[in-house]
Amino acid sequence: MDTARKILIVGGTHGNELTGVYLQRKWSADPSPLLSRLPSGEFQFLLANPDAVQLCRRYAQTDLNRCFAHSTLAQPASPQDTTEIRRARQIDAAFGPKGSTAPIDLLLDIHNTTANMGITLILSARDAMTCRIAAHLAREFPQVRLFLQPEERSESP
Ligand SMILES: [Zn+2]
Repeated sequence: MDTARKILIVGGTHGNELTGVYLQRKWSADPSPLLSRLPSGEFQFLLANPDAVQLCRRYAQTDLNRCFAHSTLAQPASPQDTTEIRRARQIDAAFGPKGSTAPIDLLLDIHNTTANMGITLILSARDAMTCRIAAHLAREFPQVRLFLQPEERSESP
């Protein structure tokens, strides 16, 4: 965990989930609450789907959160690509490629739900760093729930 310095905080993957939109805006304007916890952190922030945020809808044309499978990212650009598929390729080019170790050590993608699931961490990796972070948060917030994504990471959208 000591090597996790480059952290990307993402909000607005779904344009109607405002906690992530609010937090990435707040922390990008003043990252001091994050830096007080991780002084060596190099935080970056991303509003993932600005079109959907503008519309205050989950997505404009397709669910951005389903556009990150390797098979989708690897397809050649097409005039039929949706706004979100183009955006997924932009994000992958800027912060990926998906599955690589650079330039981001950890990506936190903040979502909301109206389902009664409390604070839930959905872990897309089971590496030591991710598990240690989850364990730390579970100690700090005893009501937190952990969900391990079952699908193969490369095809996880
Ligand atoms: Zn969401």
